[in-house]
Amino acid sequence: MEKHIRFILLFIVFFLGIYTYQNEYYNVYAIELDNKVDLLIENKNIQKELALEIEEIQKEIDTIDKTSNKNEIEIVTVSFIQTSTLSEEYIEKNEVDTLKEEKNELELKLENYIIEGVKLEKQIIEEKKEELSLNNIEYFKGVWPVKSYKDISSPFGERIHPISGKLSFHKGIDIPAPQDTDIISCDDGVVSFSGVMNGYGNVIKIKHFDGKETLYAHNNSNIVNKGDVVKSGQVIAKVGTTGNSTGNHLHFETIINNVNINPINIVN
Ligand SMILES: [Zn+2]
Repeated sequence: MEKHIRFILLFIVFFLGIYTYQNEYYNVYAIELDNKVDLLIENKNIQKELALEIEEIQKEIDTIDKTSNKNEIEIVTVSFIQTSTLSEEYIEKNEVDTLKEEKNELELKLENYIIEGVKLEKQIIEEKKEELSLNNIEYFKGVWPVKSYKDISSPFGERIHPISGKLSFHKGIDIPAPQDTDIISCDDGVVSFSGVMNGYGNVIKIKHFDGKETLYAHNNSNIVNKGDVVKSGQVIAKVGTTGNSTGNHLHFETIINNVNINPINIVN
């Protein structure tokens, strides 16, 4: 009888174990599938925090190094307080060692986060590729980059340039909007450029996970930085008229395999 009870108990423990293991496994899996981009954003934020912490510790080490250099000079010049200076220096050396250890640990942690981030980004890109081939398409359509301003003052393709008056190829579309209107990212992606480009003024360029690239020009100000992970609809810049421009508008380009495509085909 006792044997049977022991056997049943063992049986229950065994299945409880399998049940919790599976549950945890599926939970993690579900989170990753749903929010990989969110995880990547979190990962990059932690990377930034760690880099700042490392910088702070390095500063502390530098200031201690400077003062201990002073102490060395003191040892030479003021010989009668030599013992006290030496012990002080010893304490400082210990402090530097602990700081250096702390810094090493943080650097290792940062390295792991960088590796994880790269893996995560690759996974997202792989998943997008699979989805593209399953649907037999080249790219995913994005959202219109300035909410509630849908007019196009200058279309994509051959046109008379508004400043030079000559026939030239317009690599994007112009969407007029008041100064400082929000410009939003048309899809999830990573900022590949944030700065000034000749003639284009302030520019944001984004490499999306499906491979397409988008460019937002003449911005009054840029809000995101190179390397930032952005989500579809996130504000990335404000409308302006910087660079060669005759008025407030967004110059918007979409690029697929390094070729400029009419954005009308790419955003809804
Ligand atoms: Zn333009």
